[in-house]
Amino acid sequence: MPSDPLAAQHVLEFPGGYTRSTGPVVGRFLSELRAGRIVGTRTAEGRVLVPPLEYDPATGEPVTGEYVEVGPAGTVTTWSWVHEPLDGHPLDRPFAWALIKLDGADTALVHAVCPEHIKAMKTGMRVWPVWRDQPTGHITDIAHFVPEVTQIVSPVRAEYRLQAGGALRVFLEGIERGVFLGGRCDHCAKVYVPYRAACPECGNAIPDTLELPDTGTITTFAINNLPDPRAPEVPFVSAYILLDGADIPIIALTGDVPAHEVRQGMRVKAVWVPESERTASMANIRWFAPTGEPDVELS
Ligand SMILES: [Zn+2]
Repeated sequence: MPSDPLAAQHVLEFPGGYTRSTGPVVGRFLSELRAGRIVGTRTAEGRVLVPPLEYDPATGEPVTGEYVEVGPAGTVTTWSWVHEPLDGHPLDRPFAWALIKLDGADTALVHAVCPEHIKAMKTGMRVWPVWRDQPTGHITDIAHFVPEVTQIVSPVRAEYRLQAGGALRVFLEGIERGVFLGGRCDHCAKVYVPYRAACPECGNAIPDTLELPDTGTITTFAINNLPDPRAPEVPFVSAYILLDGADIPIIALTGDVPAHEVRQGMRVKAVWVPESERTASMANIRWFAPTGEPDVELS
């Protein structure tokens, strides 16, 4: 009559730790680790084994006794992701067990690699060790490896003064008076705003300015969620506005309308700062606000 085999769960554990001697080669490796260095042993054939061994696994010959410092950086040769770390794992968040070939070594070492995300893990990726604060002469003196630094975030600030050329000066003087000045090319009949002295398409000179109204139509726009000192509120909309009579849109803020109500084809009009505050600058236009006219069908 079949019966269940007898079985019992056993745990083999040395709660206080199991003390064993390291032997000279591993002892040297761990002592070097405690000092923040990673060493391997050189074989008779000149290969560098990391972690070091007393015998060359390929030939069975004793190693030469020469210790070679390697790394500390290395290259991941293969890896396996641990989604849920277990007790006793080196990290309490997801990480990869990886074979890492340290620079100067001919064999790879198993260690944990902890990138920001599994997507950052790649065979061939460069990694550097993160050392534990209190080294004890144990493989865990290297807490884990992290990806090589390939990007930095640095603050950027540029202050500059733009010298307006002749045509732009003419345009800004118009803005100071509360007028948009454009120009019509005699050759292709396109109307450009801001005014420019030559047609960018046919190179034809545009000697005269043309006053354009401060009303127009939104052709396209972007909703911005980062504050801007010029913007009425967050989120705000920056839009391409085709002034009536122009063939090229200008870019400007919109205001006096919630961002989510801005739409393509919406009719708008410039909101100017009071005349007493005007200078030869685009800051004279606070933003463009809806006129309330029906939307325009955009072709
Ligand atoms: Zn032209």
